[in-house]
Amino acid sequence: MTGPETLADFYRDLHAHPELSMQEHRTAARLAERLQAAGLGTIEGIGGTGVAGILRNGDGPTVMVRADMDALPVTEETGLAYASTVPGVMHACGHDLHVTALAGAVSVLAGARNTWSGTLLAVGQPGEETAQGALAMLADGLFDRFPRPDVILGQHVGPAPVATVGHRAGLLMSAALDVEIRIFGRGGHGSMPENCVDPVVTAAYLVTRLQTVVSREVGARDAAVVTVGRMHAGTRANVIPDEAVLTLNLRTQDRRVRERVLAAVRRIAEAECAASGCPRPPEITTSGDFPPLTNDSATVARVRAAHRAVFGAEAVMDYPSLLASEDFPHFGGGEIPYAYWFVGATPWKVWDTAPGERPEEKLRGVPGNHTARFAPDPATVRTAVTALTEAARAALS
Ligand SMILES: [Zn+2]
Ligand SMILES: [Zn+2]
Repeated sequence: MTGPETLADFYRDLHAHPELSMQEHRTAARLAERLQAAGLGTIEGIGGTGVAGILRNGDGPTVMVRADMDALPVTEETGLAYASTVPGVMHACGHDLHVTALAGAVSVLAGARNTWSGTLLAVGQPGEETAQGALAMLADGLFDRFPRPDVILGQHVGPAPVATVGHRAGLLMSAALDVEIRIFGRGGHGSMPENCVDPVVTAAYLVTRLQTVVSREVGARDAAVVTVGRMHAGTRANVIPDEAVLTLNLRTQDRRVRERVLAAVRRIAEAECAASGCPRPPEITTSGDFPPLTNDSATVARVRAAHRAVFGAEAVMDYPSLLASEDFPHFGGGEIPYAYWFVGATPWKVWDTAPGERPEEKLRGVPGNHTARFAPDPATVRTAVTALTEAARAALS
């Protein structure tokens, strides 16, 4: 490389070198370099690949700014010049932008210490997509090695017009849980099903029956989603396998609803296996436990005001609560207030030409997070840096 690396170069480099959850070695090292260059006392390897840095600047609150760092097992199809160089791995959720914004905001704040007072704690978190990273950093003593923050700030890029931000006080994102169901059949030759218990057929019935959980067992006023995202069985056409495995993702906004949905999934899985004559009941295990994200109203009001001042009122939107999830609330532990907001990443040209009039119609037509064509407008870097900088400055004054 010739000349000094700009923040845009830093972003493109991260985008080209995505790393899967809890394996963010290169990303963490690059972020740590940037934090150190800005004068932060930095520790790496917290909870695996987590990195955190601190900048003390007189009296005042401790404000934590957080970025997640992991990429997804998606094959990139954006055609960008700086597309992923790692086969089958892509920054399809925009966490490369979050890392860039964190590095950028820290460098702006470090260079303008006369505009704020307090302690800035910058955290690069591994493993958001798997709900492992925040808990791993906490378990490894993040808040023992660094002061416990008084307020926590985080942001996420998503499909909305570039240079806009979206806020919501209270419940913004939902609880999520992965459920794996292992169905035990009795395998054999494909020509003799009468001697077998075919787990493929049981799995097929189970998938359709699970569609009744939300439609028939959850009240119309309660939000819930049950998605069977993965279905795996068998090796070839003429062999009935011994097992089939389904992996489900549950989304809810209320603990009571979540318990009801999970109980229904268990009951239906067990009954469907019994109906098929499976030699033993299914094994049902849960993982990927995301808490609901409930923003602190006072903190949101402060950040929203700072964003209106810098971006203009028309660029600051009100968001509905979403069925997407985040492990960010683990850092708050139910005690530390936090604000989390969205930054629009869709180029205006793409947004304007998407079918429909209302935002929720347009959303269906633009490439969203977790898709192979998710390509944030490069101008998002500036918006995300400014959004995080001004939010932190507002909390630190
Ligand atoms: Zn994601
Ligand atoms: Zn994400």
